[in-house]
Formats: sequence, structure tokens, C-alpha cells
Amino acid sequence: MAQDSLRRLAGELRRFIANQEEDEFILTAAPQRAADILPSASVQPAAQEALPKMPEGETLTVEFTRKPKSITPSAAVEVQPTAETGLAADSQISLSGSLMTTAQKTTALAELAETIKSCTRCPLGSSRLNAVPGEGNVDADLMFVGEGPGFDEDRQGRPFVGRAGQLLDKMIAAMGLKREQVFIANIAKCHPMTDPLHPEKHGNDRAPNAEEIACCRKYIEKQISIICPKYVVALGGVSAKALIADAKSLGALRGKFYDLHLDSVTLPRPVKILATFHPAALLRNPGWKKDAWLDLQMVMAELGLKGAAK
Ligand code: SF4
Repeated sequence: MAQDSLRRLAGELRRFIANQEEDEFILTAAPQRAADILPSASVQPAAQEALPKMPEGETLTVEFTRKPKSITPSAAVEVQPTAETGLAADSQISLSGSLMTTAQKTTALAELAETIKSCTRCPLGSSRLNAVPGEGNVDADLMFVGEGPGFDEDRQGRPFVGRAGQLLDKMIAAMGLKREQVFIANIAKCHPMTDPLHPEKHGNDRAPNAEEIACCRKYIEKQISIICPKYVVALGGVSAKALIADAKSLGALRGKFYDLHLDSVTLPRPVKILATFHPAALLRNPGWKKDAWLDLQMVMAELGLKGAAK
């Protein structure tokens, strides 16, 4: 009787798991049966045999724990930079159980970019000319994240290459860095348009809406987890609210660092996030540049940057 119930449960599990697109699930038996925890939720025939023989009348509790695919079981083991591990304290290698070298990061980001380029998870995938995954130094300490590509980015498939991008380049240079030293990306990877039937029009930009952000955010989260920068600067209110997970206004979110917590991935090490103005907003309101510079100086102080030589 109990065996039949367990077999039915295993069948339900198979159907449930088959309906999941990209996540793995950990199947956990009741706490008193910790020894019966299965190695993965992929219930193979052999695993079915391993299911515990339940005495009549006893209940089996099953919990599903959503587990990001990219995190291997060994990722739970934190590797500290010590003489034994041979890692320098400021090592660019991601301190996770699956240590990512620069080459591994490059490969992982390139594979993700290919996935993004063929993505049609939301309607923006139908109107874009080019997806814009992001670009920059895979070992960057600093990442800038905007809201979405605009007209020029859509044509070139590169982030922040229009007028706002030129201002961002100047902001990065003022910090004493080059564009190639940071990583630049957006929350939404495809151009949100007010008139998707006419992508050739200028002035056809809008911010991504909540559904589009929800569809796309796993890509930026994965990028952040692969690069694992020390600091993320959220450019504009849309990016800041989404990544800080706080609906306050940009004005209320600015001026302090937050611990970055992502929905779909576990970061290998802590990452701080700071909100500032989007460069496009600074072009419209040059008077805000002084405040944006104060924000960037907070990051510079943390990273020990002296700014551009006078
Ligand atoms: S915006 Fe993001 S989720 Fe939507 S189609 Fe583009 S890549 Fe896919």
C-alpha cells in the first residue's frame, strides 16, 4: 500500500519536474529520514528503488526546494582566500564551490549572450533589431546596470552607445577607469518601444514594464553572479527599484549601499549596490550631475579610485 503511494508520488514528481523549464529541484524526505534524501529530483528507476519502505500509516513529507541550475552542490562550500587555497584576498576568481576562472566566466557569459540573442520570452523579442546582452570586463569590480537598450543600442547590439552612453563613458573616465575595465548591461536585453510596429522611428524609447523586467531579470542576475563584481551601480530608478527590490523613489534609494540579493541565483560572495541617475536623465537635467558625481565618489572611495588625473 505504502509502496503504491510512493510510486504514485514518484510519477507525480516526474510530471512536475518535466514541466519545469530550467530549474532543478531538491527532493527532501521528512526530517527524520534525512538519510533518505535523494541526490537530485530527477527520479530515475534506480532512485525509485531507493525510496524508503514506509510502514503502514506513516506519512512521508516531501519538500521542494528551488535550486538554481548553475549552482552545483559543491557551490555551498565556501572557499576562503588563504595560503592553503592559494587565492589572493583580492582574487578575481569567484569564491564559489565552482571556482570560475576568467576563461570560464568568458565562456559562461558568451553562452548566456547566445541564449539572450535567441530569446523571445517576452514581446520585446519580436520587435527588437538586436538583443543587447551587455559587454565589458568579465573580472570587473564594478558593473553598471541600466534599464534597457534604446535606438542606437538596438541597431548596434551594444549597451550605452548613444548620447547617454557617451556621457556614461565620461562618468567612468572621471572615476579614473576605462569603459573596458567595467561591465555594462541592462535589466531588459531588448529595446522597449512605445511603437513596436515602427522600430525605425527615433524617440521610440520607453522603460521596460514590470512584466518585461520579470521575464528578463534572470539574465542580468546570471550575469552578475558570473562576473561577481564588488559593486553594482544601478543607473536610474527602474534598474534601482528592480535590483534593490524596493519601490521607493530613486531619490529615496540614493546615497547608501545595499546588499544585493538576487531572486534566481546565489551570489558566490557579497555584492553591494548603489543607485544613481541614468545618464539619459542627466542629459535632460544637467543640474543633477553634481549629485550623480557624489554617488560615484562613494564607489570610488570603496574601490580606492582617485579619479581621472587633472
Ligand atoms: S527582453 Fe529579455 S525576456 Fe524579453 S525577449 Fe528580450 S531577452 Fe527575452
